[in-house]
Amino acid sequence: MKTLHFISGTFHRGLNITVRRGLEWSQKGLLPGETISLCVCPHGHDHDVVAQARVAFVMVAQVTDIPDELMVYEHEPLCRTKEGLLAAMSRVLGEVRSDDIVTVIGFEMDLSRPSQ
Ligand SMILES: [Zn+2]
Repeated sequence: MKTLHFISGTFHRGLNITVRRGLEWSQKGLLPGETISLCVCPHGHDHDVVAQARVAFVMVAQVTDIPDELMVYEHEPLCRTKEGLLAAMSRVLGEVRSDDIVTVIGFEMDLSRPSQ
């Protein structure tokens, strides 16, 4: 199973998206319906797998072309605008611009189930 690593462990019920720079994640061959692990590791180590999710779609686009209707599903509330997303990505990765190519991964979570 493939693992997505996150700086922020904020997720919501249903569809979430995460935006990753470049084509790496589109080239990993993630398929809709595939189960993935979600790991929260803000410092790039101390990996903590917190949940599993189901891949809904994988889309390659320039940041500027990501539909606003999709941005509302960004898992991190601060990243639901292009400005917020670019600022957050740039903090981690160095400058990320609106014409950079990214891979958008949509994944479905069911947080309604109790975890015990
Ligand atoms: Zn991790």
